[in-house]
Amino acid sequence: MISTPRYGRKTRKRYGKTEQQTRELYECPTCGKKKLRRRSFAIFVCKSCNSVVAGGAYRANTEAGDTARRAVIAYMQGQLSAEEGS
Ligand SMILES: [Zn+2]
Repeated sequence: MISTPRYGRKTRKRYGKTEQQTRELYECPTCGKKKLRRRSFAIFVCKSCNSVVAGGAYRANTEAGDTARRAVIAYMQGQLSAEEGS
């Protein structure tokens, strides 16, 4: 949290919430353990299996990321059924 009296209450509050999200541990998509830690901008590393995952800028999962993931899964399933048909 910013401890100077700058920027106003709302901005400081929002910054504190975002910073807290960067410190949280998230669920690893590879091993399923809650050991995914933010290393850098949008880069998350699992402390258990050492896999590196791209995520949101400040947290591992975002609404936009979920939408993209669903789109990719739907596309892959379409590809698979198309290959089975031929
Ligand atoms: Zn892991």
